[in-house]
Amino acid sequence: MRFLELYCDHCAVVSVFEQPPCQDSHDADCDEWICTRCGDAMLIASFPPVRLERHRMTTVRRAA
Ligand SMILES: [Zn+2]
Ligand SMILES: [Zn+2]
Repeated sequence: MRFLELYCDHCAVVSVFEQPPCQDSHDADCDEWICTRCGDAMLIASFPPVRLERHRMTTVRRAA
């Protein structure tokens, strides 16, 4: 599991974020991180927002 130190808006301090196992097949590309203090999920944009939007649209279509 990967860890990252980031400022958490919710905790208002620099906190340790961990990356949970991805359930969307992003593998190492996954940008979902969870604050270990408050459990808040944060998306870190290391890829263009367009790609995230496309992914969300695909997920919605599959769910519908
Ligand atoms: Zn993912
Ligand atoms: Zn937090």
